[in-house]
Amino acid sequence: VIEIGQPEHSVVTTCAYCGVGCAFKAEMRGEEVVRMVPYKDGKANRGHSCVKGRFAWGYTNHGERILKPMIRERIEDPWREVSWDEAFSFAAAKMRGIQKTYGRDAIGGITSSRCTNEETYLVQKLIRAGFGNNNVDTCARVCHSPTGYGLATTFGTSAGTQDFDSVEDTDVVLIIGANPASAHPVFASRLKKRLRQGAKLIVIDPRRTEMVESPHVKALHLPLMPGTNVAVMTALAHVIVTEGLVNEAFVRERCDWSEFEEWAAFVSQPKNSPESTAILTGVDPKVLREAARTYATGGNGAIYYGLGVTEHSQGSTTVIAIANLAMATGNIGRPGVGVNPLRGQNNVQGSCDMGSFPHELPGYRHISGDAVRDQFEALWNVKLNPEPGLRIPNMFDAAVEGTFMGLYVQGEDILQSDPNTSHVVAALSAMECVIVHDLFLNETANYAHVFLPGSSFLEKDGTFTNAERRIQRVRKVMTPKNGMADWEVTIGLARAMGFEMNYSHPSEIMDEIAALTPTFAGVSYAKLDELGSVQWPCNEKAPEGTPVMHIDGFVRGKGKFVVTEYVATDERTGPRYPLLLTTGRILSQYNVGAQTRRTDNVIWHSEDRLEIHPHDAEQRGVRDGDWVRLKSRAGETTLRAEITDRVAPGVVYTTFHHPDTQANVITTDYSDWATNCPEYKVTAVQVSRSNGP
Ligand code: SF4
Repeated sequence: VIEIGQPEHSVVTTCAYCGVGCAFKAEMRGEEVVRMVPYKDGKANRGHSCVKGRFAWGYTNHGERILKPMIRERIEDPWREVSWDEAFSFAAAKMRGIQKTYGRDAIGGITSSRCTNEETYLVQKLIRAGFGNNNVDTCARVCHSPTGYGLATTFGTSAGTQDFDSVEDTDVVLIIGANPASAHPVFASRLKKRLRQGAKLIVIDPRRTEMVESPHVKALHLPLMPGTNVAVMTALAHVIVTEGLVNEAFVRERCDWSEFEEWAAFVSQPKNSPESTAILTGVDPKVLREAARTYATGGNGAIYYGLGVTEHSQGSTTVIAIANLAMATGNIGRPGVGVNPLRGQNNVQGSCDMGSFPHELPGYRHISGDAVRDQFEALWNVKLNPEPGLRIPNMFDAAVEGTFMGLYVQGEDILQSDPNTSHVVAALSAMECVIVHDLFLNETANYAHVFLPGSSFLEKDGTFTNAERRIQRVRKVMTPKNGMADWEVTIGLARAMGFEMNYSHPSEIMDEIAALTPTFAGVSYAKLDELGSVQWPCNEKAPEGTPVMHIDGFVRGKGKFVVTEYVATDERTGPRYPLLLTTGRILSQYNVGAQTRRTDNVIWHSEDRLEIHPHDAEQRGVRDGDWVRLKSRAGETTLRAEITDRVAPGVVYTTFHHPDTQANVITTDYSDWATNCPEYKVTAVQVSRSNGP
């Protein structure tokens, strides 16, 4: 760590990495960060942090940061540095020109789960009010959009049900498709503490994760084949229903009984038993039965899940299956229980809350609702389009077809993070104006015509909302190096396009959000300063926020059971592609590594490796550390092999933090049936020895 003398003052702010939302004291000397100290009064972290939040902030000062706006007519041309005004005028002229030629709906934008609530709110406002369409989507499309769909369908709201403190009352922890030890380390520590105190652990994951390997805990591990989540969840439900373990009093009082009966009849069918599904799922029926009994009868049962649930062709179905299980056992609506999506990025929850979906205004209200639209129209002084806009994959398809020609992307490297890279390249290449608003010239910027420099979390005021719906302040500790805060950049672009927005500080943006969003009605910067943070809903009914939801009833009224039929993904193994690839993260890196790889105040030794079972490695003559070629129907990449029995025979696993790995070159085009969330977690591949990249 480079430490620059003694600090002179400190500012409390929030980590910009994962959805835990740790609070930090940035200890400063002038405009330089001396160190980041985990804040003891941070309600999400209580003085703890992981290596990323503590040390990986150096990217703010990285030499590759772009600090001046740049433009170019064609992507073959060199970039030209220009003033902010020239960049805004150039971008606005191009976007308006596209609308004139191709129609109002030929442009759109993508918000970022890394940006603040206020920045995200402004981008969707620019698109709905300034562009005149609803072609706004969020990078949550590729991670937690099934959470939004599944939890809204069953409970009536698109968010986790508990606060992190709730784990202290949990007796059974069920983790599915998540590896909190790597991806949510500070919360994982709290989980492990509770497990050491005697809580039981069930892990449903194709891989023996760090949580399973934890020396202090004996986990029930269900190592399922990738793509069979729904079958496993239905088999768990089968045991609970057929062995009489349903909490009937809870279901009768809180849920729709006839829907429950239909669901119970479905899961009870012999085809859904652990024994009938064992060959498909690869899970030992005895272990599955023990897991079901433990969850249903072991006291307070809490479910935590991640992208191993959502990034599947049945991602939404699995979220619904999880909710069904919680309702059937009465594990909802009090401390210690619940359904808890572990959000990957710092502000996934917030970016969804702020109206980043093409069909929803802030607060998850459908754009077609006249009364809701009236409110926004009155305050924004515009007429809004009632038709839902395009999702990200639809934008790409329309670009290739020649009907979507202009895109504003804030804080997201879509070329690296979205599936089917060659299709994304084709879409970006076809567009006439791509505006990238980011810290670095990322891969997407190779196809951009306008580059608007962004600012890091250390340079901004605003709020993030973590995985437990906790809204926390992000406080500016230094002046934006690019000379303009991100919210001001969006306003500059809006003005150049002829849509006026006037705010003098992000607190005024939050005041507008509160005025238009019932779940945020009681939120203000004054309240956040006073209380430290609040969890939405925060309004007249709950002025200090809501740690646990659905206590007296579900937001939608009666809880809704939905039949979850297992449907196999279209991605199949076969003689040419006999192995299934699934993906995950390591602790020291973050997503595509744009920030962690550019932080040199700590040494980040890592590379993406392919974990392969000894049996599969031997068959292919692969030794530990060998280069291997990983090939799917979509593409291929090269990386080193790590031989381990953490994965089962037939399954391989890699991380996706380094651009050279190009993991998304090999992922498929399949996606969740309800939300188009890509099926990143299941790809049929072949593996062979290679001489290297
Ligand atoms: Fe940041 Fe998440 Fe680590 Fe906390 S656990 S310091 S929020 S990356």
